[in-house]
Amino acid sequence: MKIGILGGGQLGRMLIQDALKYDDEFYVLDPNADCSCANISFFTKGNFNSQQDVLDFGKGKDVVSIEIEHVNAEALEELENQGIKVIPNSKIIKIIQQKILQKKFYKHHQIPSPDFQIIQSLKEEIRIGFPFVQKLNTGGYDGKGVQVIRTENDLEKMWDEPSVLESLVDIDKELSIIIAKNEEGEIKTFPVTEMIADPKLNLLDFNICPAQISGEVQNQIDKITDQFMNAADSAGLFAIELFLDKEGKVWVNETAPRLHNSGHQTQEGNANSQFEQFYRVLKNLPLADTSSYQFSGMLNLVGEENFTGKAKYDGLENVLKLPNTYIHLYGKTDTKPGRKMGHINVLANSREELLDQLIHIKSLVQVISE
Ligand code: ADP
Repeated sequence: MKIGILGGGQLGRMLIQDALKYDDEFYVLDPNADCSCANISFFTKGNFNSQQDVLDFGKGKDVVSIEIEHVNAEALEELENQGIKVIPNSKIIKIIQQKILQKKFYKHHQIPSPDFQIIQSLKEEIRIGFPFVQKLNTGGYDGKGVQVIRTENDLEKMWDEPSVLESLVDIDKELSIIIAKNEEGEIKTFPVTEMIADPKLNLLDFNICPAQISGEVQNQIDKITDQFMNAADSAGLFAIELFLDKEGKVWVNETAPRLHNSGHQTQEGNANSQFEQFYRVLKNLPLADTSSYQFSGMLNLVGEENFTGKAKYDGLENVLKLPNTYIHLYGKTDTKPGRKMGHINVLANSREELLDQLIHIKSLVQVISE
């Protein structure tokens, strides 16, 4: 089968890496000829935000999918009209692309998500109470385009752009659940994962799976998952990012209509990875067993502050000596502060052992430049 992916980053790379054990051809569209997928796929240099580039790329493919959601959704809709399979469908991609539409979607489907106000510009009266979070409608990524407004004094730093203003949740834990659905309607979820963020870089830092949550919290998540999948009405692999607040209530933060950083530890931690699962979704195959073997975790290898240029993974040899530890690099030539360059997965017999091991590994390795 000819499988086309918009975006050539690490998510696409790990999908292809996993799926090469089957017999398919992977085609990738990305503006950067040096991207993570360039050397392991049939690569087309082009802009996935351009209507024409996406239409040209889709021609002759059996299925077209994404590894980044900021793509030209009109072109995907046009491909659907031409009879080309698009997974997930263009409608849900369009909703998720825009924070305003995404929030309205949750509200419409009674999916619990923090209270919000929509503004088109700062000329409008702000009615939501302090503290709140401003999220740009488009253009935000990895914590950029998101800022907390705590008091009146912060109002002057607000961006004058279409935004969602959202009540600040008193977060106990950030959680994520990855769900897959094939065209037959079969659905499988991965165990809930806990995401621990680095406050400085605002980037996801550690994952811990399975999350330490009560049965009651699990029930809330199961309900949200059902509601979301019914409302989305599309085959695909989705990651729902959740907040558990200090009162034990679960809220949806946002959803990604694609492979997700919070699922990387499934590569060695589960019977099958999110990448295997996504491949099966694209081919409409029976979905894979997602059971976890033990405790698994992941730490992102991100570019250190003050280092820009050809990447060097300082201390990686020490990590290679460790048992139950697996390194994944993304084939990116250059590092810059905060850039996701790779990750390390760890397996352990207990949550405590896992956390100790992740913290230890973080102290061993650094992404710097030559
Ligand atoms: P991105 O799309 O860049 O990942 P998010 O919407 O996930 O942005 O926000 C980034 C981080 O900001 C979240 O992981 C969370 O820590 C914090 N955050 C976002 N929204 C809220 C909120 N309503 N209440 C509290 N913290 C929030």
